[in-house]
Amino acid sequence: MKFGGTSVADPEAIGRLIHIVRTQHAKKTAGDAPVVVVSALAGVTDALVAVAQFAEEGQGDRAAAAVRSLEERHVAVAVAITSDDNRARLLDEVRQEFKELAGLVHALAVLREVSPRSRDAVHAVGELVSSRIVAAAFAEQKIPSVWIDARTVLITDDEHNTAAPDMAETCERARAIVAPQIAAGKVVVVGGFIGATANGVTSTLGRGGSDYSAAIFGACLDLAEIQIWTDVDGMLTADPRIVAQPRVVPQLSFAEASELAYFGAKVLHPSTILPAVSKNIPVRILNSRRPENAGTRITADAMPAAGCLTAIACKRDVTVIDITSTRMLMAHGFLRRLFEVFERFKTAVDVVTTSEVSVSVTVDDTRRLEGILDNLHNFAEASCEREMAIICAVGENLRADPSLFGRAVTALDRIPLRLVSQAASRRNITFVLRDSDVAHAMMRLHETFF
Ligand code: ADP
Ligand code: ASP
Ligand code: MG
Repeated sequence: MKFGGTSVADPEAIGRLIHIVRTQHAKKTAGDAPVVVVSALAGVTDALVAVAQFAEEGQGDRAAAAVRSLEERHVAVAVAITSDDNRARLLDEVRQEFKELAGLVHALAVLREVSPRSRDAVHAVGELVSSRIVAAAFAEQKIPSVWIDARTVLITDDEHNTAAPDMAETCERARAIVAPQIAAGKVVVVGGFIGATANGVTSTLGRGGSDYSAAIFGACLDLAEIQIWTDVDGMLTADPRIVAQPRVVPQLSFAEASELAYFGAKVLHPSTILPAVSKNIPVRILNSRRPENAGTRITADAMPAAGCLTAIACKRDVTVIDITSTRMLMAHGFLRRLFEVFERFKTAVDVVTTSEVSVSVTVDDTRRLEGILDNLHNFAEASCEREMAIICAVGENLRADPSLFGRAVTALDRIPLRLVSQAASRRNITFVLRDSDVAHAMMRLHETFF
């Protein structure tokens, strides 16, 4: 059971969390306690990102002030949910964590240098303290529970800031450290998003990574279900921040959920589905404010209602790179050379379209764009266009019903489309267009299909 930032934002939210866990736990037999994975309190990771930024700019005082205000917020929540010994213990833990953070941030501000590894140490504090707070809330309610440091279980590579789990090692540790606690009937509380490298250095899975943590624990422990408790009623037919009143999608397939998550449905971290697929564990998205709602159920073989798409998603602020070369004409090996450049610069390509003499790709991560363009210029002309967006319309029905494609294109009539692609799986249609057109285009598509 993973609870996102808004689902642990304050004492009331933590109260709802306890109620949800207790209700589910009561329905089960002994030895079936859930693992509760928690995010940082709402807004805390953003604040920690700012702290690291201040330190990097040498603004030590601002960084220290931000750390103090975060400490005050956590102390207030800790006091509100505990009493007596529980409170004393929790306050010690919270104060200790912030004392270490303050020391670290001071050092970083003096050096004006924040490496990816130090950044992870700063960012991880949100989940380290939120998980302790939630564990204390369980103890206060006399629910048998135990806090486990995620860094002793979730082992990652050393790509700091976007670390990938070592599944074999993590599963072994989960079975050794977490499983016995579940078997003893204890609710295990663990921070999401964070882990440690094989050498024990704190790492993070990337923004939004708590969903991924939950799926990793679920898969390693062969659990019955992975629940993502959040602030919306499930996977919606479109991003509610762009389209007014999207509907809840009651069920969708792993493949559809992956596409939607990858192309911008923020409710699910894009990697969440991978561990679930490996063990065929259903994933549910549920609203922690309305736990009685059925939410969205994601399984291997869910079939959506006929005649419609499943949902649409969009990924904003992407860059299109156009690569043209007359040498491409009839040449074999051209695409290999081209994609090797992206590989060398560790940059993922999202959408690809080709014609006889040109290839267009989109990238999300532009940190290494200059190097990529320089290298492409060795054998082709290359130019880029920023402020573009991807819209991805997803549905297993696209395969069976060819009219859906036409209806989608018609819905976008007169909106300039830069690239259009339909994958071989024929589970999605992808449009690349100007970012300034994306809201309008999403609304038109949504109106047409939902
Ligand atoms: P949490 O803190 O619980 O992880 P997130 O903010 O990461 O929550 O994800 C939930 C948010 O995702 C929703 O509040 C919503 O604004 C956004 N969102 C974007 N696209 C979708 C979608 N297709 N379905 C549901 N939510 C979406
Ligand atoms: N707290 C982290 C973030 O905001 C991880 C998460 O909430 O999933 O990105
Ligand atoms: Mg999230």
